[in-house]
Amino acid sequence: MTINRISRVVLTPVAFADPPLLNVVGVHQPWALRAILELHTDSGLVGLGETYADETHLARLEAVADVLPGHDPYDTHGLYRLVADVLGKETGGAGASFGGMLDVDSAVDTVYSPFEVACLDLVAREADRPVSDLLGGAVRDRVPFSGYLFYKWAGHPGSTDNGPDEWGEALNPDQIVAQAKRMVDGWGFGSLKLKGGVFPPEEECAAIEALRTAFPGLPLRLDPNGAWTPETSIRVAERLAGVVEYLEDPTPGIDAMARVAASTDVPLATNMCVIAFEHLAPAVAADAVQIVLSDHHLWGGLRRSALLAGITETFGMGLSMHSNSHLGVSLAAMVHLAAATPNLTYACDTHYPWKTCSGMAQDVVRPGVLDFTDGSVAVPTGPGLGVELDRDLLGELHERYLSCGVRRREDTVYMRSVVPDFTPNTARW
Ligand SMILES: [Mg+2]
Repeated sequence: MTINRISRVVLTPVAFADPPLLNVVGVHQPWALRAILELHTDSGLVGLGETYADETHLARLEAVADVLPGHDPYDTHGLYRLVADVLGKETGGAGASFGGMLDVDSAVDTVYSPFEVACLDLVAREADRPVSDLLGGAVRDRVPFSGYLFYKWAGHPGSTDNGPDEWGEALNPDQIVAQAKRMVDGWGFGSLKLKGGVFPPEEECAAIEALRTAFPGLPLRLDPNGAWTPETSIRVAERLAGVVEYLEDPTPGIDAMARVAASTDVPLATNMCVIAFEHLAPAVAADAVQIVLSDHHLWGGLRRSALLAGITETFGMGLSMHSNSHLGVSLAAMVHLAAATPNLTYACDTHYPWKTCSGMAQDVVRPGVLDFTDGSVAVPTGPGLGVELDRDLLGELHERYLSCGVRRREDTVYMRSVVPDFTPNTARW
């Protein structure tokens, strides 16, 4: 049998317009960055992956891309060792940081992830089966997502060519409810998450209570990204008990989360204190979190995310899914993974509806495969991930990357260009 080997690797950094969404460390820059990975085989197949595109991460991806030709896409264990070897030769430390909020000790899982996804895409295309079949098969044919609400400014300050967006300002409970109505009317979301950590907790509780009144039947989540002390977190949990389905990262760190968890029956979720396999044992031992948010970009691809799912099931923890600003290749991978993960019972996060600046290309995949109906996306049934690159769109978003000047995500730096004395709000309240 001839083995279809990787013959060529193409890595394309791209940028797309992002609205001024507020969070605990600042505000989203006008342009969000992603890297699109193509693995070509000598038989003409192309496997796709998508990941972060901060310049440090890009350099690591390129170092792996340089040594990948000749590799067998079925050999993902060998790929993992290869990534570890390449990064081990790097100088300057092996850790990785994303968005000013998430830090991991090793970059191996995050660098490995897009290569693994692209290998699985290749293998599944060759087998003429969807990627979900490589993960044990889809247990659901649609994947539900939650509507992701943000406090935001009406537009980016200064002169960028993505001016005021169609969403408008959202700085108080009434404006958050209006934003939620737009999300629910436009996409049909059956649950809602509010990104908090922007205003004092009383204001954010009031926004959640306004959402409860406006949407009596919808599960609600609040995620202040560790903006509160344990004492404040316990007070908020008392106020929102029975109102939220979970509180996400009310306070930073496993120890502080455990203190809060010991004082409330409100489930605590995290994508901040448990973001790598080495965090699981201490979190379980401390009974710090009830729900882990998976993220295949951070946890080392689709099969290592399935491993995470097995661990959370073993220890009686729930499983949800985290999102960063992303494009269609990532969305397709998220949908296949979620479809093939039986215990992923919470609606997944997605930033996808925020790619709505008019008059500009907003994705790199051909449209029509990943449409939202009733807040969910149908699992693609075509071979591989089921999405194809549109070369014109990819070129347009790459040109945008070259011209936009953004080379890493810096929410705090950008916020200080507008509010010079801004400090990140972590554990501030
Ligand atoms: Mg979060």
